[in-house]
Amino acid sequence: MSANIPFAIIPSANPISAQERADRIAAPGFGKVFTDHMVTIRYVEGQGWHDAKVHARQPLVLDPATAVLHYAQEIFEGLKAYRLEDGAMALFRPEANAQRFNASARRMAMAELPEELFIGSCRQLVQIDRDWFPDVEGGSIYLRPFMIASEAFLGVKPSSEYLYMVIASAAGGYFKSGAPAVSLWVSQDYSRAAPGGTGAAKCGGNYASSLIAQAEAMKLGHDQVVFLDAAENRWIEELGGMNLFFVFEDGSIQTPPLSGTILPGITRESLLTIARDEGLTVREERYAIDQWEADAKSGRIVESFACGTAAVVTPIGKVSSPSGSFTVGAGGPGQVTQRLKEKLVSIQRGAAADPHNWVMRLD
Ligand SMILES: *Cc1c(COP(=O)(O)O)cnc(C)c1O
Repeated sequence: MSANIPFAIIPSANPISAQERADRIAAPGFGKVFTDHMVTIRYVEGQGWHDAKVHARQPLVLDPATAVLHYAQEIFEGLKAYRLEDGAMALFRPEANAQRFNASARRMAMAELPEELFIGSCRQLVQIDRDWFPDVEGGSIYLRPFMIASEAFLGVKPSSEYLYMVIASAAGGYFKSGAPAVSLWVSQDYSRAAPGGTGAAKCGGNYASSLIAQAEAMKLGHDQVVFLDAAENRWIEELGGMNLFFVFEDGSIQTPPLSGTILPGITRESLLTIARDEGLTVREERYAIDQWEADAKSGRIVESFACGTAAVVTPIGKVSSPSGSFTVGAGGPGQVTQRLKEKLVSIQRGAAADPHNWVMRLD
């Protein structure tokens, strides 16, 4: 399978005006202000990847029998393009996203995309939509590569055709009003992932099945759901779209291990590496929900935070379940959380040394 397929670049004939663009990116929020262009690449069994192009963002035309609409054979990624302190544009660890995309593709019996095509498509889109970087604190362009089963066929089997796309949106902060800490609801009735399931794949189906729990949390006044393991309903796994970390009184940090039911977050892995570089004691070990409560109450746990590309690092304040609630530490951002976040953001912005070569400059 050759990765050296040509990329056609067809600039939009009707880009959004500079004035309108400036208005839209002044306070972009997350996931709603889209840029002018998109990438599409097609795959057909026997023919491979072809027809790669960057073109005007436009609606899709799909046959109603398109496989993804029936059997949810779909995967996605999420990564950000940043402006470095010196003004250059950069991606953060895009090869890690490319590798995870293919791990997700294998689990969902989909065609793998050569890593160079994944990275090249992100690069092309950022280049052509470079005027969409919001000039706000923490501003970035959020890239959403994704792939759908595009064969029109109702038989139950892996699709023989795929459509890979990348769209981009201007991004400010993820949580409204840049909340200092989020409150969590411990889901009692719903699991996110089970052994042998798709928990480690970044597929839309995982999100579809988690939305009822998220809706329940929001209805009860909480920000996010924390999911426990499906077998014992006891071991803390992750949030609907973010991994979790615990900071202990002795300065050590802990996160649940990648057991197959947890999404291997790139932010999670980056923070583990930064923490080890800083000489912190780091554990990837199971942690039970009742232990979290006991440790928060006794003071053995002093901070907890969630992490992911979209929201970066988010402190956890309060944790609730039908049996009651508890507060972690002082209920706001803690020192270790803040330090790890600042280190990660500094590397992403080109303001700190990058010993692991995570930052890929685009110009
Ligand atoms: C994407 C995602 C994460 C975070 O991964 P990052 O690579 O850090 O953005 C965590 N959990 C779930 C379920 C996810 O889909």
